[in-house]
Amino acid sequence: AKKATKSSVQFYSQKLKDASQRIIELENALQNAITNHEFELFLQPMLDLTTGTILKAEALLRWNRLDTEKIGPDEFIPIAEQTGLIVPIGKWVISKACEMISTLNHRGQNCKLSVNLSPRQISDRHLLDFIRTSIKNNHIQPDQLELELTEGVLVDNYDKVQFLLTEVRKLGVSVSIDDFGTGYSSLSYLKKLPIDHIKIDRSFIQDLVNDENDKAIILAIIAMAHSLKLNVIAEGVETELQRNFLQLNHCNLAQGYLFSRPLPFAQFCDYLTTTANQ
Ligand code: C2E
Ligand code: CA
Ligand code: CA
Ligand code: CA
Repeated sequence: AKKATKSSVQFYSQKLKDASQRIIELENALQNAITNHEFELFLQPMLDLTTGTILKAEALLRWNRLDTEKIGPDEFIPIAEQTGLIVPIGKWVISKACEMISTLNHRGQNCKLSVNLSPRQISDRHLLDFIRTSIKNNHIQPDQLELELTEGVLVDNYDKVQFLLTEVRKLGVSVSIDDFGTGYSSLSYLKKLPIDHIKIDRSFIQDLVNDENDKAIILAIIAMAHSLKLNVIAEGVETELQRNFLQLNHCNLAQGYLFSRPLPFAQFCDYLTTTANQ
């Protein structure tokens, strides 16, 4: 192999330094983000494909940093996860979502909300109590709250997950498997764990119109889910062609830019009103 020149070594070590400095900077900023009220929950509707009704919405975290560039959850969630900050941030998300459900109830716009759970949160002994308390304090029905877990979470912490999901089910909160098809979860977990919904990952939806393999995978996921009495949600639906394929093949719900981008709370309420959901 070619020997690296001195300047290229310096170049790469500088890049590494820049990258780690950015992580440290973001870590520090994240530490204060809750108290500085820099977080906001956006909501993205999920539609029933047969009736067109909005049945629920996914809560997606946004970080509004003052005087700096926007940074998406794909960049800051992993940092929050590594540092453990995801535990307090995740609690903020759960209580904010319960608050929003309560506000929607008072407006007569009842809607379920689902929140994303990170692996680190599963190991938090206080998570279950926190969920219970948030539901109680906001006077909402437990079945108005849903949790989204990725396949990786199931496999890595099987015992903890089994306990948590069993308790969550007793509470009346339901559970979705997120990004389904991208992980390595064994199908047997689906049968053994108390799961309610499967979300087909956007990567299968993207090219489904042109890609016979993606079509086959989607059909297989839907058939398997239905035989296990699970609902199927397609994420990242952007075109009518995708929607038609999914509808024709009995996918239950869909979420994506075709219907709406994730919206700030006030705009989400308007969206519910204009689509005459209630
Ligand atoms: P996810 O849970 O798979 O969420 C779906 C992502 O796809 C969201 O990105 C959403 O905005 C995007 N999306 C929805 N419809 C479409 C579409 O039609 N086309 C395309 N191209 N994208 C679509 P977002 O909001 O940037 O979130 C990225 C990821 O960050 C989420 O992926 C989730 O893993 C994580 N995340 C977001 N909020 C939270 C949170 O409160 N807690 C945790 N632990 N993770 C979160
Ligand atoms: Ca999700
Ligand atoms: Ca997803
Ligand atoms: Ca995803």
